[in-house]
Amino acid sequence: MTAPTQPEPSAPRDTAARTALRTDATDTLPLHTPVIAWFEANARDLPWRRPEAGAWGVMVSEFMLQQTPVNRVLPVYEQWLARWPRPADLAAEAPGEAVRAWGRLGYPRRALRLHGAAVAVTERHGGEVPSDHAELLALPGVGEYTAAAVASFAFGRRHAVLDTNVRRVLARAVTGVQYPPNATTAAERRLAVSLLPAEEGTAARWAAASMELGALICTARNESCHRCPIAARCAWLRAGKPEHDGPPRRGQTYAGTDRQVRGKLLAVLRAAEVPVPQAALDAVWEEPVQRARALDGLVADGLVEPLADGMYRLPGRP
Ligand code: SF4
Repeated sequence: MTAPTQPEPSAPRDTAARTALRTDATDTLPLHTPVIAWFEANARDLPWRRPEAGAWGVMVSEFMLQQTPVNRVLPVYEQWLARWPRPADLAAEAPGEAVRAWGRLGYPRRALRLHGAAVAVTERHGGEVPSDHAELLALPGVGEYTAAAVASFAFGRRHAVLDTNVRRVLARAVTGVQYPPNATTAAERRLAVSLLPAEEGTAARWAAASMELGALICTARNESCHRCPIAARCAWLRAGKPEHDGPPRRGQTYAGTDRQVRGKLLAVLRAAEVPVPQAALDAVWEEPVQRARALDGLVADGLVEPLADGMYRLPGRP
């Protein structure tokens, strides 16, 4: 008996559909295999990825990269490592020096946290950044993301490393939506853990590779699907790239915000080698209520130290 002839699927008409329906050898491989192969050929040569960066270099870079793009981090990172090549070098300085060297990277509380972590590494771990996730997490200022990133990138450990780039890649390629939720959810963590390669070294490569894919190819806007190693299996592309229909995405407004005023106040203190009077701070922002609120916030955060004589400075040694 002759088997009934299967009808030929109709040919896709547009490019997106052709891309979405295309299948190739990567379809049958685990997701990490084509992404790691792409990474091996396309990874940027960044200083914190070189062997000489060591765990301290990785830790510094992770603090800096959390809310600041690579191109702005690069010069500050180089100067930081040249000045403080080991955690003990930074720990020996006043925290205000970390705030000063942080320059204009933004969100300067990270500088204080990095200083605090350097002190703890020096006091508790003999100056060596620990490799164990739990020990990293116990350091002041080190959260789940940074602990996983340092353990993975510096020590090749197996952890789900969920930064905004990785979350976007997984949201699109696996979940089939344009953007991940505003804050990391338990469902995202479960998905990331389920995708982790079993072998430790491969898991660490996958962490770095998926992050790089999000940074270079699966970008927030104008993603380059035609160059993507997992285009053939991307759920969002297959679905025809439906528009984001979740809650509005958080904007990054800066002008006129307390963040801008805080930045201006800190810039005065960073440039000054000696304590400055209130009048020098008052000169940077006209509106007195917002200015006072910003200064109070900086003092409360430990980024500015008020002195008894009405002067201000970056925080000295405790
Ligand atoms: S195909 Fe496009 S949307 Fe999907 S993961 Fe690749 S770059 Fe992102």
